[in-house]
Amino acid sequence: MKAIGLTVETPGIRVVDLPSPAIERETQVKIRVAEVGIDGTDKNLVQHHLVDVEEGESHLVLGHEAWGVVSDVGKSVKNFRVGDPVIPTVRRGCGICAACLNFQSDYCYTGLYKERGIHKLHGFLSEEVVDEEAYLVPLPKDQALIAVWIEPLSIVEKALDQLRLVQQRMPSWCPHPTHAWDAPDWGGCKRAIVIGAGPLGFLATVMLRLQDVETYVVEIVDPDTTRVRMIERVGAKHLDGRAFSPEELVRGVGRIDLVFEASGASKLAIEFIPYLPRNAVYVMTGVPRAGGVTVPVNADLMLRQMVRHNLAVIGSVNSNASHFARALEDVRVIRKRFGTVLEDGITHRFLFGSAEQAFAVLQDPNSLKVVLDVLERPAVNLHAHS
Ligand SMILES: [Zn+2]
Ligand SMILES: [Zn+2]
Repeated sequence: MKAIGLTVETPGIRVVDLPSPAIERETQVKIRVAEVGIDGTDKNLVQHHLVDVEEGESHLVLGHEAWGVVSDVGKSVKNFRVGDPVIPTVRRGCGICAACLNFQSDYCYTGLYKERGIHKLHGFLSEEVVDEEAYLVPLPKDQALIAVWIEPLSIVEKALDQLRLVQQRMPSWCPHPTHAWDAPDWGGCKRAIVIGAGPLGFLATVMLRLQDVETYVVEIVDPDTTRVRMIERVGAKHLDGRAFSPEELVRGVGRIDLVFEASGASKLAIEFIPYLPRNAVYVMTGVPRAGGVTVPVNADLMLRQMVRHNLAVIGSVNSNASHFARALEDVRVIRKRFGTVLEDGITHRFLFGSAEQAFAVLQDPNSLKVVLDVLERPAVNLHAHS
């Protein structure tokens, strides 16, 4: 079985030949992988040769945004049958802490969790994978063509949840009770800045626009690029991060209710904090590599403004199966409102063997979601409605 990953000894992407994984427990499911999306996390692992494996392992199979088709099931598997399309979640809990025991390994307390394709466990960039039923989410057939968006969308779902929970401490400023942070129409009258128009920034923008939030996206790309056109298609406005400082950007937008950081550009992310208006909330989702950029900070100004403006800056990582399920529900709403924006956001598809080219294209502002086709002809009728 072919897989794509990193080896401990030599930097760079490798195609590795591995034995096909076998079902070892009755609760496990075997999956024929169809497609895997790649993103900045994968690129970071490749670029900096971060091969985070268990003691004695020689390689890490990459890939954490996947869907596939069930090819075999253990005796005790209840919810999946051969032929069913599925999406695997990424994190595997520590099995000890209260969060992990409550199916919320995204809040693991011990840090002893593992993540498929990122941290200690092989990912999904291989022809077949085996996983526990509990870590799989059923995929409606009519969503297979955009299924690689579900994992990153689950990250946005969780981050927006956190942001709304934190803001529920605030008295609402607008006169509409239906726009309260805990109400279904919470986005009404609200204004947001999204930092980054890459895949995650795009999805955050789509979700905010779905809520009618007036959305400004800061990105350091030219206006005539796919990334800018995609956020404009859902009614957001592009702000060129090269032309203005964070202070100027914030002043230009005026009242801001929330900031969604989705760039991993830590310098830019930090520089926004002292200029945020009163009662704003700022959620960060980028994960830069440790030991990267150091920037001087006006610490007095930052502390002063955070306190005087009641600022909440929160980090949000990973997601759990409930966020995947909600992402699948929201895809239906996105389609109703914005048509084929998710389909069109998949800008590049490469055959499984062309991983090098796929990774090279990630940096291009005319790329958004980049996909590797593992299975050339998926064994489900993608156009049949579930
Ligand atoms: Zn845990
Ligand atoms: Zn309102």
